[in-house]
Amino acid sequence: MNARRRRSAGQPETCRALVTGGSGGIGAAICRELASAGMTVIVHAGSRLDRAQATVEAIRAGGGQAQAVQFDLTDADACSQAMAELTAEEPLSVVVHNAGLHDDAPLAGMAAEQWQRVIDINLNAFYRVVQPALLGMARQRWGRVIAVSSVAARLGNRGQANYAAAKAGLHGAVISLTREMAARGITANTVAPGLIDTDMLEAAHSEQALALVPAARLGKPAEVAALVAFLCSEPAAYINAQLIGIDGGMAPG
Ligand code: NDP
Repeated sequence: MNARRRRSAGQPETCRALVTGGSGGIGAAICRELASAGMTVIVHAGSRLDRAQATVEAIRAGGGQAQAVQFDLTDADACSQAMAELTAEEPLSVVVHNAGLHDDAPLAGMAAEQWQRVIDINLNAFYRVVQPALLGMARQRWGRVIAVSSVAARLGNRGQANYAAAKAGLHGAVISLTREMAARGITANTVAPGLIDTDMLEAAHSEQALALVPAARLGKPAEVAALVAFLCSEPAAYINAQLIGIDGGMAPG
């Protein structure tokens, strides 16, 4: 991988980006793309630090800068401590809250724990990683916040009331954040992928669901990453508070 340095005017000299779920399929692709854009990338892992570390090594091998961090997004104290450490010396310019999971059941049979865990990781963790980064972004008058949502937030999905609620909630938070921070050079946008070819997508599920995709194929993590990287760039400074689907046409805008 070649690190293409294309830092634009307006961005801070040192642009540090935290990507939650950098150990996952889409997250790793986002990390590589942001590093290619010249950012110093903090590759977050929940449990699979080895995978985050492998992405760090690939970025460094291509001439980019990265480090790995590990913390559990359901642990508020761990998040608070990690974010304090990550913002102690320099601000974070970019936070991509990409970590997430689903735990499906029809609502009539869904356990309270299933509801809460999915809301906690997908939605509550947005607060835990974005809130501590905002004052630093405001001081430097430049920042980018991206929430990785899902087509399920727009269309709903059987068995995913918890997941759809969490992913739809992200965009409410994003819109409100832009009302507060747009004048300080901070943008926030939501990206809503459809069926993307990662471990999260179970083979049987994808076969069945592929019929719903006008493009008739799965999306690639690199395609999601390219969108996120553009939204994090200086030329995207006037794109704010948008929910952008990347789903092969599943959910028309
Ligand atoms: P993966 O399963 O590959 O990655 C999920 C990531 O979330 C992992 O890095 C995992 O960390 C992290 N994570 C999960 N739970 C925790 C936790 N408690 N604390 C910290 N980190 C945690 O999924 P994808 O790459 O496919 O998905 C990325 C995002 O895209 C998710 O938000 C997902 O909802 C969304 N999305 C995915 C779609 C798809 O088709 N793949 C479709 C629509 C949206 P670790 O493994 O280290 O524990």
